[in-house]
Amino acid sequence: MGSVYLSSLNAEQKIELRKKLFQIQQGACFICQKAVHPELHADAIDIDHIEPLNSGGRDDQSNFALTHSNCNRSKQDSDLRVARVLKLYDSICEHVAPKDTNLGHVLSQYGGALYDLPIVNNNGSIEISLTDINQNETVTSPLLIDRLSGFRSFHAEIPIAYLHHDDQINPRPIGRQLRGLILEFFRGNPQLHVGLGWLDLPTGENSSRAKIRIFDGQHKIAAQVLLGVKALPIRIFVNPDRDRLLNANTNAGTTLRQIAFDKSVQRRLGGTILLKRIDRFRADNARLTDDWSFSERDLVRHFRGEARAVQRYVLDNIRNSITHHEENRLRDFIEFSGKGKEKPFSYSSIEKTFYSFFINQEMLETAWDFRADTGENKREIEKQQIIRLMNMIADLIYVGSFDTERGTDRIESAVQNGEDIPDDHLCAYRMAKEEILYCWLKYVRSVAQQYFIMQGQPIADDKLFQTLFPEALWSNIKNFIINLRKLPLWKDHEMSITVFGGKANYSFWESIFSTGSSPQGQRVLAEPINLIAMIQS
Ligand SMILES: [Zn+2]
Repeated sequence: MGSVYLSSLNAEQKIELRKKLFQIQQGACFICQKAVHPELHADAIDIDHIEPLNSGGRDDQSNFALTHSNCNRSKQDSDLRVARVLKLYDSICEHVAPKDTNLGHVLSQYGGALYDLPIVNNNGSIEISLTDINQNETVTSPLLIDRLSGFRSFHAEIPIAYLHHDDQINPRPIGRQLRGLILEFFRGNPQLHVGLGWLDLPTGENSSRAKIRIFDGQHKIAAQVLLGVKALPIRIFVNPDRDRLLNANTNAGTTLRQIAFDKSVQRRLGGTILLKRIDRFRADNARLTDDWSFSERDLVRHFRGEARAVQRYVLDNIRNSITHHEENRLRDFIEFSGKGKEKPFSYSSIEKTFYSFFINQEMLETAWDFRADTGENKREIEKQQIIRLMNMIADLIYVGSFDTERGTDRIESAVQNGEDIPDDHLCAYRMAKEEILYCWLKYVRSVAQQYFIMQGQPIADDKLFQTLFPEALWSNIKNFIINLRKLPLWKDHEMSITVFGGKANYSFWESIFSTGSSPQGQRVLAEPINLIAMIQS
């Protein structure tokens, strides 16, 4: 976002600010923490907000940082503090363990995994002492017993210097999917399931030390370590039967799905909680059990103490009913777990685009069932039209074109290696990338807005999909999608290494669509997107 403060500075003041930030940051880029060279990088330095303005960051000197322009452009989060952590993790992935980064690699970069733990079992109480890091007091924890399995464990807060990765019970690498967890912990939310480790109590006269091996929770621990955490609560099994531990851990991650608890599941839960709140609202107000004559706002008002949560449940319910609607054909192309490589859309990108653009986040004042019988209920219209748009996209780009067998794994490298990737598949894959989808769905929104403006009835963004679209508008949208899909860039192999090579941010693609060129000036489209031309059949 632009800065009023920055644009108010004259050239001299800008240089002053740059010098000042250079000093504060001791000459290092805020994101990659490598040196910024005052002369060599002179025309490739950005000054940007650390905390973005739209999340409440201030537009003044205290909130500015100096970065390499390319670091800023390729940052993975708009909050520079998060972007820095993600960059650090990337560089561990690239330089320390290119294919299979695990918790051990992260720990080794942050002063972890150094010592075995001094520990004794004193009549059913575990005593530990952290002498290597100069904490000589004895910490006592009760030894707990799982009644059915007989497994024994204790809980303690353990500094990372005493944590080691167990690559036998947990041989899986972390992968690159840490962003969500890093954001979660950065926002101050707690770890719900504690990390699990095990050790064998020392035996014999000369030894009082045992190695704590972490076999579960490595993503959560790694995310927190990357954010600077130096000690974590851990549940530690004592002298466990390791085969059974391995089995239990494998079951948890696969058949039992104890761990998979992704966002779309949360939306579903939100919808369930909403129904419970509605029941309570009716009971509190002596209404009948099938009464729908109250509004979303009435409901939120009634639960004043948890207004925000109830508002979220209402929206969860809408998102959930669109996502899992039986007529939604795009659903087959959405990856819900966040880690799979079969389907082109991640659920999170669906939320950030379709749902954030087209679902009105404001609570309605009209009754829940207002004009439901005549097909004029706003939420119902909104839901049906979003599903219709998704189906249109599914039919025009995905069904019969995207091959889930081939999936999304390393598509661009395959193109670069000359492998034969069908055009339809490549096109479908590229158009689903979040930063690209984000930009072209905005054009779809513009097509609809333009239509209503031409009819002399402009409509606010958030109410757009609650307004019934005439068939003429649907055919404009359809033409737009058909024409967009015809653009040569989606199947261009040369562009694999350039525009489709790395992860770009939204503004990169905004530039391509609105000017025809990337921000670096590379020509990508023959001409900028012209809405009038694109809605012609
Ligand atoms: Zn940098």
